Amino acid sequence: MQKITIAIDGYSSTGKSTVAKQLAKYLGYVYVDSGAMYRAITLFAMEQGFISDDHFDVKGLISNLELVQISFKLNKETHVADVYLNGINVEKRIRTLEVSNFVSQVAAISEVRSMLVKQQQQMGEERGVVMDGRDIGTVVFPKAELKIFMIASAEKRAQRRYKELIERGDNVDYSEVLHNIQERDYIDTHRKDSPLIKADDAIEIDNSNLTLDEQFQNILQLTTQVLEGL
Ligand code: C5P
Repeated sequence: MQKITIAIDGYSSTGKSTVAKQLAKYLGYVYVDSGAMYRAITLFAMEQGFISDDHFDVKGLISNLELVQISFKLNKETHVADVYLNGINVEKRIRTLEVSNFVSQVAAISEVRSMLVKQQQQMGEERGVVMDGRDIGTVVFPKAELKIFMIASAEKRAQRRYKELIERGDNVDYSEVLHNIQERDYIDTHRKDSPLIKADDAIEIDNSNLTLDEQFQNILQLTTQVLEGL
């Protein structure tokens, strides 16, 4: 059967990666978490001292981007690919609130975006890919056969993210998580280079009141329609 490209964009913590993983598994497609790539560069910037609470050396980061190598390797336990930064598995470290607090500033840098967009396009060359992010349907794969744009209220998203962080043992408070989500929404939608917007041909799904299964069935049905129409 012919394979397609599926782009899933939307605001932070709308559950894009959950449904993208489910879909990729069901279809036997490759799942790519583009946000993990922006998070890995952010971790690099933090470790190298280019970004901290009171300073951001954008030029320094840009001139060192060639030292950043990002790759994905399948984790045999989770059956999903983990992200590696210069050969080291950073899957857990990129998910902290600290990285979340800096990532949107790093993702607003054009040089970072063009480097990652190129890599993402290469990963999708063969089709059969489900990629989630902020600019997948608009910039990375503008010709994707199926584009989904996910939304949910900021409070719902913060509740979900808070639960996730607490479950993995992080010491965070709810208001901090909500603040981070609102701030990332603002930066992601207002940046000059490829701001987060819904592609004209994307299908919007508000999952505030949908169960994970309802959401999955919904998107699976849309996928089946596209596949049948090929
Ligand atoms: O998807 P996730 O929340 O992990 O993404 C982290 C951040 O990376 C987003 O808030 C956004 O600033 C940035 N991002 C982006 N473009 C993408 C994916 C993520 O700018 N395609």
